[in-house]
Formats: sequence, structure tokens, C-alpha cells
Amino acid sequence: MSAPGRKPVIAGNWKLFKTSAEAAAMLRDLRPRVSMIHDVEIVVCPPFTAIAAAAQALAGSNVQVGGQDLYWESQGAFTGEVSGPMLAELGCRWVVVGHSERRQLFGETDEAVHRKLVAAIAAGLSPIACVGETLAEREAGRTLEVVGRQIQGALGGLSGDQMKRLVVAYEPVWAIGTGKVATPAQAEEVHAAIRARAAELHGAAVAGALRILYGGSVKPDNVKELMAQEDVDGALVGGASLQAESFAAIVRWRG
Ligand code: PEP
Repeated sequence: MSAPGRKPVIAGNWKLFKTSAEAAAMLRDLRPRVSMIHDVEIVVCPPFTAIAAAAQALAGSNVQVGGQDLYWESQGAFTGEVSGPMLAELGCRWVVVGHSERRQLFGETDEAVHRKLVAAIAAGLSPIACVGETLAEREAGRTLEVVGRQIQGALGGLSGDQMKRLVVAYEPVWAIGTGKVATPAQAEEVHAAIRARAAELHGAAVAGALRILYGGSVKPDNVKELMAQEDVDGALVGGASLQAESFAAIVRWRG
């Protein structure tokens, strides 16, 4: 269970799903289902094109909006990119950075992830920095080495103030969209290692306040045991965040 001072975050990553109209309809359904939850930060990350509609549908609610990616420059000749200030202007408070789909399908490197984290924080956003090993890396016994390298690449060189704005999501690649969830013990082992690495980089106080989310096939029926782990401070949810009923059930894991 998340330590005092680490308010849990449940964030939904909608990936390439939902038009503006579909986003607004889902969020009108979600709002009343979670309106009584004030001890969890609730976030939805729609595709860029649906962010404005989502922000409008959520105005005055306890559900926050985030982007799924950003570019590190604020503006310029970067066709197809979207910047932190652009997301902030639409009402985003959060942004996912370095999701494994971006790393694997779009060639995002640890260096690019770091630059995006810096840009997100400069724009006033809270980045969700994603790390995680592939199945081959886990089977080769390299999980902690790989995740440690990603943490070093992403968080190394950030200031203590920058660290306060950021959360980490541990998402084993083999668990994303596959229905294969990490066991609570597997998640806790990596979360504890991430916190230890963060302590080496930024000191015990910063690491102790860092929120570390688990992602990878989180569902209403497995969230409770994951959230019971000492170093699990929330969840990044893909498929189960697309329906109001299942996402609300995850947000309300305490029952
Ligand atoms: C994700 O997209 O970050 C994710 C964890 O997806 P899923 O919950 O569908 O595995």
C-alpha cells in the first residue's frame, strides 16, 4: 500500500481509441461513478484529437486529463509533433512519456525520454515516465539491469524539484495488452528496485516521495492485490480504461 504522502494515481491510457464524441460520452458516464473518490488522483489520457472534448466533459470534476506523448521543443518545424505548452493549453495536467509502444514502434530512446520529461515539467505537466523489460530480457534474468538503465537514462540529471513533478510507471512489455499480469511479488520486486535506484540518483527523501505505478493488464479483479504492495502507488491502465464501468471499478479498488 502506498505510503502516507504518496497519493495513489490511477491513469487510463486510451492509446489510439476514441473520437472526440466517443471520449465525451465515455467521460459523462465515468464522472458520477468516481465523483466520491478524493483520495486517488484519477487521470485519463485520450488521443490528442479528443483532449479538448475530454477536458470539456470533465470540467469541474475530480478526473484530470493527460496526453500520451509530447515533443521536447515548444514550437518549430517538427511536422506532426505536439508540444507541452499545447497540451497544457487544452487543460492537460499530465502526459505519458516513453511508453513501451513509443520505444518499440517509434524508436524512442532513453535520451529522447529524458528530453521529453524535462520539457513536460517545464510546461507545467506531470509526466508519467514509463519503463519496463521485454519477455526476452526477463527470461534472460536482465529485468533489474534493463529497468535500472531506463531509470538512469530518464531520471538522471533531473533536479529534486523536477522529480517532485514526475511519476514512474513500471510496465513489463510482456504484460501490456496481453492479459498476462505481473504477480504482485514480481511487481513489488521491480518497484522496490526502482525506488532504490531513484534513491541513489536523488536521495532517500525524493525517492521516498516518488510515486511508482504498475501497468500491464490491470483489471478490476487484479488491481487490489497489486495495490496492496508496499511500493505500488497506482496503476497505468490500457484496455480496461476504455469503458467507464471497468475503469471506475479500478479507481474504486478499495471497495
Ligand atoms: C498500457 O497501455 O500502458 C497498458 C498497461 O495496457 P493494458 O492495461 O491494456 O495492458
